Amino acid sequence: MDINITICLVLPPLFFALGWMSARLDIRYLMQEAAQLPRHYFDSLKAILAHRVDEAIFFLADVLKRQPDAQELQLALGELYRRQGRFQQAVFLHEQLQQSPRVSESLRKEAYLALARDYLSAGLWDRAEQALVVLVDDAQHGLEAERSLVELFENSGQWQRAIEHRRHWATRAMSAEGRVIAHYYCEQAVQAMSHRHWIESTQFLQSALTENTQCIRAQLLWASVLLEQDLLLEARKRCLELETYQPEAILLALPLLKRIDEALGTQEQSYLYLKNYYERHSIPALLVTLSEWACKYDAYPQGILKWIFEALAEYPSPSLLKAFVQLKLSLTNRLTENRDDATLVMHVLHNYSRRYEIYRCKTCGFVAHRHHWQCPACRVWEPFPMIPAILGTTH
Ligand SMILES: [Zn+2]
Repeated sequence: MDINITICLVLPPLFFALGWMSARLDIRYLMQEAAQLPRHYFDSLKAILAHRVDEAIFFLADVLKRQPDAQELQLALGELYRRQGRFQQAVFLHEQLQQSPRVSESLRKEAYLALARDYLSAGLWDRAEQALVVLVDDAQHGLEAERSLVELFENSGQWQRAIEHRRHWATRAMSAEGRVIAHYYCEQAVQAMSHRHWIESTQFLQSALTENTQCIRAQLLWASVLLEQDLLLEARKRCLELETYQPEAILLALPLLKRIDEALGTQEQSYLYLKNYYERHSIPALLVTLSEWACKYDAYPQGILKWIFEALAEYPSPSLLKAFVQLKLSLTNRLTENRDDATLVMHVLHNYSRRYEIYRCKTCGFVAHRHHWQCPACRVWEPFPMIPAILGTTH
């Protein structure tokens, strides 16, 4: 037989056999490795997946006791301690790791970053800043350190420094952060407003609108500043301009608009404006305000009653139902005839509206009973819709 033909016949099965053996050896090696891992390691993983953090900590701490050199595990356990608010234990583990002569340079920096985040979570701003400033130029951990510095300045209310570091972070992360930076200016405006420094407040609000030309919060705050200075017409104009920003934003402006209208005597104009507004945008929550004014400023308030009736099918909110009952009783003069019954019904519906009309954070699901610009739980900016949802429904 030709030698070339022999090679062709023998080589493929040989390579196949070698591949099969190497795979078997790999599997055997992995099996041995897995067998060597303590059982509590897997228990801790299961507990983490089931969000039972206390249990995961118990198992991981046990594994670490048996394998004190498992550095990555030490880092992970420290993270879990921090999440549970057990800062002392977290700091102890991360500090130990960061100072150990046996860890790699990369892991040491990771432990230092974790330590900084422990200080940050514990509200030890100075220590956290000290550590983060050291890491901020690091190629591997710099971006995370910069992001943590932003969080630090946000949490400690150092808004100007938050702006600087948010800008640095945005450049490095190639992210557009104008929307968030506008809130930092708004925070400074709020501080200036609390001291009645109107010119300073206006400057901050101007900066906010330069960062984000559609910043609803800045526009609302500006209207408040104008109202405080008795510049009522300008304040009213700012409120009405919100329609060009986002139609739902008018809901946040209503308490302010009512105060301005009261001072100016422009309730009727606002009533007509909001009625047209509803026709343009169909925002059911707006009908609550319209129902309050309908009997006084509308020649045909039954029209509002009909709108509420139709809107209730789509948006069954207790405050809308309350508006319907109240307007219906007013139109039939039964509100004055059955005053006690009506008061009781209104009281019950009012309580229901407080309990069931909620704002839910789009990021973490936190439920609030009033609108916030920043989620109190996950600290994300603008995660709440402007129209309240109704608990237990898809609205
Ligand atoms: Zn949230």
